[in-house]
Amino acid sequence: MLCIAVGAACTAENSVATPVVSPAPSAAATATPQTQPLVFSGTRAYDSVVRQVALGPRITGTRPNRVLGDRILNELAANGWVTQTQTFTYMNTPIRNLVGIKGDGRNIVIIGAHYDTRRRADQDKQHPDQPVPGADDGASGVAVLLELSRVLNASRTGKQVWLVFFDAEDNGDLDGWSWLVGSRYFAGKLTVKPSAVVVVDMVGDAQQDIYLERSSNQALAGRIWDVADRLGYGGQFIRKLKWDMVDDHTPFLERGLPAVDLIDFDYPYWHTTQDTPDKISADSLQRVGRTLQVWLESKP
Ligand SMILES: [Zn+2]
Repeated sequence: MLCIAVGAACTAENSVATPVVSPAPSAAATATPQTQPLVFSGTRAYDSVVRQVALGPRITGTRPNRVLGDRILNELAANGWVTQTQTFTYMNTPIRNLVGIKGDGRNIVIIGAHYDTRRRADQDKQHPDQPVPGADDGASGVAVLLELSRVLNASRTGKQVWLVFFDAEDNGDLDGWSWLVGSRYFAGKLTVKPSAVVVVDMVGDAQQDIYLERSSNQALAGRIWDVADRLGYGGQFIRKLKWDMVDDHTPFLERGLPAVDLIDFDYPYWHTTQDTPDKISADSLQRVGRTLQVWLESKP
């Protein structure tokens, strides 16, 4: 794996991470293949949301953010993904994007989510100075990506899948911070041309309504919504344009890449202290994760 693919700031972790790539199947492994294809588990994803929130707010530059980042890298490696990190400094704060790569071929698909949480709940009327717990806004997207890392059949995808965990998405307009700091850096350093970029953000709401996001590439979004329809999720994947988001897909759109923001912005606890796991459901995570799994495992 060329380190340059995610920029010059790759660290030494790349070289130690490389050997975790799954070895070619041996005769013994071929003789005893996995009996059943793995299917995305919303319950497992929900457990990940609970574990992330239990760390406390994962604000960029804080210890819980670092701990979560390390756990993500370990989980990716344990699931056979080649991991890379991309580090830089912004506002005197260390920023770290995380990448897991699996599969072969020139067709690269990026699935992204931010793993940081917002430093202050500025939409909270009672507690605007408290941090956001980030069950939906942060943990839900991470949980979907991590569960995908367990179940995705890389040989069936016929493509390279990059799971990218962005840091520093969510401090925009606070203390002089910009939005999308991690994803903007990542997109700016990208030396490959992915065929699709899908950002997964705020997808866990128990009252799930995922509308088509206005700035997204609608052809790409349509293909994902088609899969959701086939799986019986048409009630939650709604084929109407609603919100216009600036999110981690934006820096990719600005570079002319087909990108989609998969987001349920009808969430009354957004940027409040009430963004906690009791507002999230395993079924909602299941619908998003299963849709992405089936879409990724279908031939291009
Ligand atoms: Zn947010």
